Amino acid sequence: MFTDYVKIIVKAGNGGDGAVSFRREKYVAAGGPDGGDGGKGGNVYMEVDQDKNTLIDFRYQKKFKAENGKNGEGANKYGRSGEDLVIKVPRGTIVKDAETGKILADLSELGQKELILSGGRGGKGNSHFATSTRQAPRFSQEGEKGEEKELVLELKLLADVGLLGFPNVGKSTLLSVVTDATPKIADYHFTTLEPNLGVVKSEYGDSFVIADIPGIIEGASQGVGLGIQFLRHIERTRLLLHVIDVSGSEGRNPVEDFNIINEELKKYSEKLSKRKQIIVANKIDSMQDEKLYKDLEKMAKEKGLEIYKISAVTGKGVKELMTRVSEVLKTLPKEDLIEIDNKKKIYTLQDEEEISVKKENEVYIVSGTAVEKLMRTINLADNESLHYFHRRLNEMGINQRLKELGIHDGDYVQISDYELEWED
Ligand code: GDP
Ligand code: MG
Repeated sequence: MFTDYVKIIVKAGNGGDGAVSFRREKYVAAGGPDGGDGGKGGNVYMEVDQDKNTLIDFRYQKKFKAENGKNGEGANKYGRSGEDLVIKVPRGTIVKDAETGKILADLSELGQKELILSGGRGGKGNSHFATSTRQAPRFSQEGEKGEEKELVLELKLLADVGLLGFPNVGKSTLLSVVTDATPKIADYHFTTLEPNLGVVKSEYGDSFVIADIPGIIEGASQGVGLGIQFLRHIERTRLLLHVIDVSGSEGRNPVEDFNIINEELKKYSEKLSKRKQIIVANKIDSMQDEKLYKDLEKMAKEKGLEIYKISAVTGKGVKELMTRVSEVLKTLPKEDLIEIDNKKKIYTLQDEEEISVKKENEVYIVSGTAVEKLMRTINLADNESLHYFHRRLNEMGINQRLKELGIHDGDYVQISDYELEWED
């Protein structure tokens, strides 16, 4: 429930194609081959960004693509490599392959950066294919396609900000206004004994997670202990918004309320009581006695605390408050506040699939990533390219395995989408 979860599609850049070109010199009909290599496609990386707290950005942008490599050119000119793409994610993000569920990266450390997809190799220009017997190769290698993957990003949400205050002061209302959470809002006490937590919309700056700290007072007076789990959760908040009802409607005194809550807080958790607080004077839409607010403001000044006037119901002042909270959060460290799984990083590059060679209904089927990649870079219409292809099949041991299966001249071999006739 407290997990942010998004699916995105990422693609590494394609490699540029190698060029087919021949030197042109004055008075020389055709010089040697001088086609340059294509550039490598850009890689896709993911990197921990300390300023991000949630995956909210990925709700708006879901497709990411690294730049393609440029094609090679004549005069042995290399194509430029495509720029790498670095996708910033909050600390604690786990990256999975959506199809297999395999964990590709666990970005739990500050500054951590992981390679997620590799860009395609650039194709070789025709100058690479010249030999003593083949002086004018009219083929080059195509660039390799960059990989594309659907990824799942998961982030365990931990509250950055806690809402503190007496029952009925408007904590749940505020939470419901600034997040998509739907807490119970009611006019009676003891409403919130379950943690309510939401992702604050990014219209206020960097997104963050805010949690309603369920009735420190309610729980205490009722002898209801808060679950250890939840206490652990809120102990990691970096900033507390101390919500106070300044309307006077319940006949309470804001300054007194402030002090009582802070005493209770100290009893609950020494650690939590030392957190930075911002005072939120709520319900200003129905203020009956201006003096109640003035006294609170004076106290805030004496204690050196920031104070914001809002009405959670009408929305007045909410934007200013949240924008400020987003700013303040940037200045508060979260090094040892964040929960880190002790799980070891289990990053593996996409394992290259084994090459498989088998016979099915008189057709020989060759499959595997490496051979399919080779297929994409070959020009079957070109004889020399075909020779190169055969040489590679030999090197990969594929010809040998086909022979072991008893292949004869005229038999068909299927590789990727191609069907080729075997010739010894
Ligand atoms: P919580 O117990 O602190 O979570 O308080 P709630 O959010 O449940 O609100 C308690 C009551 O105060 C509800 O009836 C709200 O409608 C009301 N309330 C909350 N914010 C405001 C406000 O800004 N102005 C007024 N007039 N009433 C509010
Ligand atoms: Mg509430």
